[in-house]
Amino acid sequence: MTDSSPKIHQCVILGSGPAGLSAALYAARADLAPVVLSGMDLGGQVSKTDMIENYPGFPDGVLGPELVAVFQSQAERFGAEIVFDSATAVDLSERPYKVTTYGGEYLAESLIIATGASVRELGVPGENEFTGKGVSYCATCDGHFFKDKDLIVIGGGDSALKEGIFLTRFANSVTIVHRRDELRGGVYLANKAMSNPKIQFLWDTIVEEIIGDGTVNSVRLKNVKTEKEEIREIDGVFIFIGHDPNTEMFEDRLDTDENGYLVLDQHMHTNLPGVFAAGEVGDPHFQQVIVSAGMGAAAAMEAVEFLEDES
Ligand code: NAP
Repeated sequence: MTDSSPKIHQCVILGSGPAGLSAALYAARADLAPVVLSGMDLGGQVSKTDMIENYPGFPDGVLGPELVAVFQSQAERFGAEIVFDSATAVDLSERPYKVTTYGGEYLAESLIIATGASVRELGVPGENEFTGKGVSYCATCDGHFFKDKDLIVIGGGDSALKEGIFLTRFANSVTIVHRRDELRGGVYLANKAMSNPKIQFLWDTIVEEIIGDGTVNSVRLKNVKTEKEEIREIDGVFIFIGHDPNTEMFEDRLDTDENGYLVLDQHMHTNLPGVFAAGEVGDPHFQQVIVSAGMGAAAAMEAVEFLEDES
């Protein structure tokens, strides 16, 4: 007689960004044979990043997709199984925890949530209509479509600065539109952007509408101090106004803060036994590749200890 009961995995990891793949490496080296459900984008946000200059060990920088590839191959070398599938529902009511995906179902004695965060939308008229037709959230993916074009970048954080600088490779001009008169992004990128002859800044300004005819041709801008509005002709709009954590699936069982980030203790524990989290999904503060990778390693070490304590 064959045993038809579903396999119970020691450790299932949701997400394949730096946190998920680092957790996979550590869990695999501890013989947990982790299964990583990659999500829609293997590598997460990093896979859409051009050059990463602040990940230790790469003194000349490393391309985002290349970093993902080395993370992946290192985790796989020790036995992590990376499955190209996404969780659609998670049942955390009892152990083993149950993860439903597009392709099947996984039972897990321990779970590491590394689902990251998704780009935030601006929420103005024209944004959805022109997404992919002049509105973009990914300079690495779409920048090359805008050769010699005039672009605006919305946001005042490191992403807006970094991606704005990247877009100058293609664009004729990049105007960074920020709602305040002071940047949120760090001084290194701010100086680099300010000294780039293709970049201008428009302070105290918000985009109220994205306008086009098939594709984007202009935006309606408003100065929040003077209330003055203007229509500015442009060819593309890149939006980098932060991220929202991907926690909807867990909100009924796991504690989140007022912005939806999972609440973790300093050992990456959620409020449920055997459920750990790592990376941006539980990190509203640092949101750096190196920090996410470290959190992933820590979460896996805690999962190992949790399972050992039970045996
Ligand atoms: P962020 O730091 O949260 O910045 C978001 C920016 O968008 C802020 O300037 C914010 O304005 C603006 N914003 C938010 N909502 C807006 C709205 N509805 N309309 C207009 N503007 C809006 O997000 P991020 O730039 O994506 O960075 C996220 C994290 O990743 C940060 O920790 C950052 O340091 C890190 N990161 C690091 C690098 C690097 O190379 N070191 C590169 C990219 C990202 P206010 O300033 O007024 O709030």
